Parts: sequence; structure tokens; C-alpha cells
Amino acid sequence: MTTEPRTIRLRAPDNWHAHFRDGPMLDFLVPVFLDSGWRRRIVAEPNITPPVLTGDRAVWYRDAILERARAHDPATTVDPVMTIQITETTPGATVRDARSKGVGIGKVYPFMVTTHSGNGVQDYDKIYPALEAAQDCGLIVQFHGEHPSDDIEGLNKEAGFTAILDRIRARFPKLKLTMEHITSRAAVDWVKAQGDGVGASVTVHHLFTTVDDVLGYSKASGGLMRVHHGCKPQPKWRDDRAALNEVVLSGHPRFFYGGDDAAHLRRRKEAEGSACGVWNTMAALPLLVDLFDREGQLDRLDPFLSEHGARFYGYDLNAESVTLVEEPWVVPAEVEATGMGDSVVPMCAGETLKWRVRA
Ligand SMILES: [Zn+2]
Repeated sequence: MTTEPRTIRLRAPDNWHAHFRDGPMLDFLVPVFLDSGWRRRIVAEPNITPPVLTGDRAVWYRDAILERARAHDPATTVDPVMTIQITETTPGATVRDARSKGVGIGKVYPFMVTTHSGNGVQDYDKIYPALEAAQDCGLIVQFHGEHPSDDIEGLNKEAGFTAILDRIRARFPKLKLTMEHITSRAAVDWVKAQGDGVGASVTVHHLFTTVDDVLGYSKASGGLMRVHHGCKPQPKWRDDRAALNEVVLSGHPRFFYGGDDAAHLRRRKEAEGSACGVWNTMAALPLLVDLFDREGQLDRLDPFLSEHGARFYGYDLNAESVTLVEEPWVVPAEVEATGMGDSVVPMCAGETLKWRVRA
């Protein structure tokens, strides 16, 4: 007698932080998002080349993503959420113009902390005109929350950044903002202590890994450095990972999913000067279903994936759904990046995952 495998039907999940890249990487990545269950809102981060700094460029980028999505699936319901990057030289007028063209999110990167952040912010006072305009016109601002000062060491940069956010909150109390891809108990506590205007996104890799997985101290790492786990902000200590798991599994309404899906070609990752980013697009939903299931909190998975963020960003809840089947599969060791003469290594490469996204 064979028994039918378990299935779980989710409200179609949103992803409040993702990198689609540009050029051939964009062609390669869009189908993977759709095939991996990311078929509704996906926030398109603006750090492409040249970066998305204006409403017009955001509209171009959105159309470029949609064109590729429709080529893959003519009936696609994917909705790339537009962003512009806010830099020290972004005028308030540019923010207002972007908002009038449908851009909902401004993104602030700290100087030289992550991919393409050479135009990032060092002096946060210089973005006050843009933040003032954002507050006035209802643009929500996402912060990569790591302090740009070399005086604050890497693993303390996120905790150190809350001081910058405290000043911004005091100056712009009505500005709605998100602390992105948080990794630390300090950030969890800071976000919880704020009011309704502050949210946080959490990635799947930060719920599963610690710094030991990057540096090669965990047994799972086999004693070897694992560059494909390396990202910014880097995963922290076990207590920080526990804080992220606690807050997400508790159903706190201001914490929502943002994958920071960040593909890099293998030659850019497996090198001195390895690029930061985890390509978790394929593994994310299977891992999250497994985590919430094991913890007996499956009823809190839809809120985390598709309700808290939609409410925070002011959207209706998705009507679509995505189904996962309890059917083990092996994540490929690498995926050929068509036309780029290289491949990308996914999160959980070569590992067996318990749940599979139904096509
Ligand atoms: Zn990112």
C-alpha cells in the first residue's frame, strides 16, 4: 500500500529583498525565481550597473524583469516591486518623482560594505533631504543595517548601526523603515522596541547558519571555509540565530521574509576577494516549511511569508497559492549559468531537502 505524500498549500509568498542582477544573469535568474515558488511580489534591489537611482530607471528595470518572466511563463503573476537607491547625493525631488512613478521603496547601502556599494552612504546626515521627502510622500526606506565605520568591527556593525537608526527615527518619526536581513539579537531587540513604523526582513540562511558555517568550524562545514555561506551581514553566533528563530516562529507581525537572494558566478565566489551573497532561491521554501513544521508552527508560516510584509508595505494579501510536497530531492551541486561560461552554487548544494515546490 502506498500513501500519498503530505502536501502543504501556502498563500503565494512575497520576498521583500532579492537581487535579480542584470544582463545575462537576469535572464538566468528570473526563471529560477518562478520555478522555486517565488511567483508574486519580489523586491528588486537596485544595486545593478549602473544602479537604479531614479524612478525612470526603476520602471525600466521592472519591465526588464517582467519581460523575462512572461517569456518563461506567459501567465505569470510575478510583481517585481520597484526600488531606488538613496545615496548622499539623492535630491528630495528625485524621491518624489520616483514615488509618483510607482516606486514604493528606497534602499540605503552603507559605503563599501557589500556588492556594488562604492556609492553607499558614509555620512547619514547627507541623506536627510531624501529621507524628508520619503517621509512626506510615503516611500518606505530599507536600510542595509551595518555601520560603515572601520572603527566598528564586522560582526559588531549591525548592532552599531542601531545608533544611526535611532537618530533617523528621532529626526523623522513618521518615516516608515525596514532593517534588512537582520542577523543579531541586538537588531531583533531594537526592532521589537520600535513602533508600527519599523519592520525587519529575515533571510532563510540567517535562520540556519552561524559564523562557524562560513569560517569552517562547524562539523557540517567539514572544517573548511564555506564561501558560499558568506554574505553581508555575515551570520553571527548561535545566540543571534536563536533570537531570529524565536522572533520569526513567535509570529511577531513586524518581521517578514526577505531572502536577499544573491547569486554570484562561481569564479567570483571561489576566489581571493570572494563576493558576498548566498543564492538561496531554490532551497528557501523547502527549508522554511521544514523548519516551521518541525517546530509545530506551520500556521505561522503564511503570516511570515505573505501577510506581515504585505500589511507593512501596504498591499492586499495574495490570492494565489503555492504547494509544496513532502518528496525528497537533491539540490544540485551547481547550476549552469547559461551564456556566462560558469555556474552558480546554490544554498544546500548537494544536500537532500525534504520538501519540494510543485511546478
Ligand atoms: Zn541584498
